[in-house]
Amino acid sequence: MKELLMGNEAVACGALAAGVQVVAGYPGTPSTEALETVAKRRPEGVYVEWSINEKAGAEVAAGAAYAGARSMVTMKQMGLNVASDPVMCVNYVGVKGGMVIYVADDPGPISSQTEQDTRSWGQFAKIPVLDCTSPEQAFEQVQYAFELSEAKGMPVILRSTTRVCHACAVVDVPEFVSPKPVEGFVKDPKWVIFPGLSYQNKKKIFKRESELAKLFSENGKNPVTGSGKTGIACGGISAAYVADAIRGHEDQFTVFNVTAPYPFPVQAAKAFLDQVDKVLVFEELDPYIEDHLAAMGADVIGKRSGDVPEAGELSAVKVAGMISAKTGIALDLKAADLPEAPALPVRPPVLCAGCPHRGAFYAVKKAMKGRKFIALGDIGCYTLGNAMPLDMVDTCLCMGAGVTMAQGLNHVDPSTVNFAFIGDSTFFASGITGAVNGVYNQADIVLAILDNSTTAMTGHQPHPGTGVTMMGERVKPVSIEAVLRGAGVTSVRTVDPLNLGEAVSAIQAAADEKGVRALIFKSPCIAIVPKEKTAKVDQDACIGCRRCISELGCPAITMIETADGKKADIDPALCTGCGLCNQICPKHCMEVIR
Ligand code: SF4
Ligand code: SF4
Repeated sequence: MKELLMGNEAVACGALAAGVQVVAGYPGTPSTEALETVAKRRPEGVYVEWSINEKAGAEVAAGAAYAGARSMVTMKQMGLNVASDPVMCVNYVGVKGGMVIYVADDPGPISSQTEQDTRSWGQFAKIPVLDCTSPEQAFEQVQYAFELSEAKGMPVILRSTTRVCHACAVVDVPEFVSPKPVEGFVKDPKWVIFPGLSYQNKKKIFKRESELAKLFSENGKNPVTGSGKTGIACGGISAAYVADAIRGHEDQFTVFNVTAPYPFPVQAAKAFLDQVDKVLVFEELDPYIEDHLAAMGADVIGKRSGDVPEAGELSAVKVAGMISAKTGIALDLKAADLPEAPALPVRPPVLCAGCPHRGAFYAVKKAMKGRKFIALGDIGCYTLGNAMPLDMVDTCLCMGAGVTMAQGLNHVDPSTVNFAFIGDSTFFASGITGAVNGVYNQADIVLAILDNSTTAMTGHQPHPGTGVTMMGERVKPVSIEAVLRGAGVTSVRTVDPLNLGEAVSAIQAAADEKGVRALIFKSPCIAIVPKEKTAKVDQDACIGCRRCISELGCPAITMIETADGKKADIDPALCTGCGLCNQICPKHCMEVIR
C-alpha cells in the first residue's frame, strides 16, 4: 500500500520488509523515529527495545545476528562513538544473520554537540557504508543492506542525514509478515575474538575492501548519469539538492551519485572522471568524496578549494548558486524563486514553564550562595539550565561526562563543591560507570540526578527507571537510589525540586559532606502528567520587583502595564501551577489554583 513516510519511518519499514527480527537502539535526534516506527508497526515475532545506551544496543543486535536473525541497531552519529567498541569488534568477528547499523548524521549540527561523518567513520572501521538520498531510496537501501550483510557475513552501516530522516515521500509498503524462524546460535570458535583470529580476519577484511569497491562500481549503487562535460559528484541528501539545482539543464552535466561511499567505488569514479572536464563536489560534513577523487588525481572544486562550506547544511538553492558561480551556467533555481518563509517568532532555547529542573537548579544556586561551586551539566533538556537567569551549566561535554569531569575538577581543586547534574535516562545510559568510578577512587562530588521519569529531550522514551519497555510491558523499575547504594554511595537524598525549602536544606547538608553523595531531584516532566493547575498573580499585592522573572526565568511570566504600574502576569496556557514562583515572590502573591 502506498504511504507517506518520513525517512526514518522508511528505514523502519524497509527493515520490517526485509524480515528484521531484533531491533535495538538508543534515542537521539535525528534517528529516533526509526526504532519507534518498528515498535508501532512490528508484526508478531519482532523484538524491539530501547537499550540503555548505543553500546548495549549494538551488542543486543550482534547477539541476535550470531543466532542467524536479521537485526538492526539505531542511533545518531554521537551514539556511534559510544557503540564503537562492539561495532569495531563485530566487524572482525562477522555475523550470520544480516546486521544493519543505522546511523543518522546531523549536519549543522542542529541538535548535537558536534558534526561527525559516518562515511569517514565507516572507512576507519572498515565497515561498508550505504548512504540515503531520499526516504524512497532509504526504504530500498536498508533492504539491500540486509542482503549484503548476510551475503558477506559482515555488519553494514546505513547512514542518513537530518533532511532525509525528516523529509517525507510516498513509499509502496508491503504488508509485514513475521520473520522466518532462524537456526539459533551454533557453537564455533569463530565467535570468540582472539588476537590470532583477528589477525586472520583483518586480512579478509582488507581483501573484502577491494571486492566491495568493485561490486559498488558495478551494481548500480553509485550511478553515473548524463553526458555533459561538467561533472558533479555528490551523495546522500546533496544528490537530491543537485537534482533540484540542475533541473532543466541536465544535458550540461554528468552526475556521479555516491550512495555506497565505502569502500569507495574507484572504477565507477574513474568512468565518471574520464567523461568530464571539470569536477564539482557537493556533500555535507566531511570532504569524503572530494578526497577520494582528489587522491585519484582529479582537480576538484569543493570544500578543500574553499568553494563549498566546510560546515553546516547545504540546500538546493545554495548548490545552484555555487554551480552557476563556478561554471557560468545560469540555472533556473534561485533563492528569489522560492516563496518567502514567514518571519518566525524569536524563541531562545529555555526550560519549559513548570519544568522541575528549574527548581533543582534554582535551589542549588540559592543553597550555595556565597560558596565556591561548579555546576557540571550533561546531555539532556536540562542542558538548557545554562540559559539566563539560571546560568547553571558551567560545562557540558558528552553523555555522562559531567559525573567524571566533576571528579577531575575535584582532584585539582578540592575546595570547590562540584555538582554533577545528570538526568535519569542519562544516568542509566552512561552515568552509572562515573558514579562507580567516583566511589572507588574516593572522589568528592555531589551527584545531582534530575529524575523526571522519562527521556524528555528525544520525545519521552522509556528507560529502566520508568517501569515500562518499548514493547509496552510493565516491568519492575530499576531504582536509581538502589543502584547508587549498591555502588557504595552511602549518602542519597531524594527531594522534590518544586519544594524549595526542602531542596535547599538537602543541598546544604549534602554540600557539607565528603565523598560521592547523591541528591535525587524527583518530579515528573510536565509533558507526561496531565495539567491540572495554574497560577494567578494577585496584581494588587504584586510590587513589580521582577524577582520572579529575573531569578527564575519561567517563560509563563511576563510584566504588563497596569493602572498601578508594571505588574507580573502569568500566561495560563503555559503555566502548570508548579508554585515555584510563589515560593520566591517576596509578597507570595502568585496563587496556585485548580
Ligand atoms: S507556577 Fe509560576 S513558575 Fe510554575 S509554571 Fe506557573 S508561572 Fe511558572
Ligand atoms: S516576584 Fe512577586 S512581587 Fe515581584 S514581580 Fe513577581 S509577582 Fe510581583
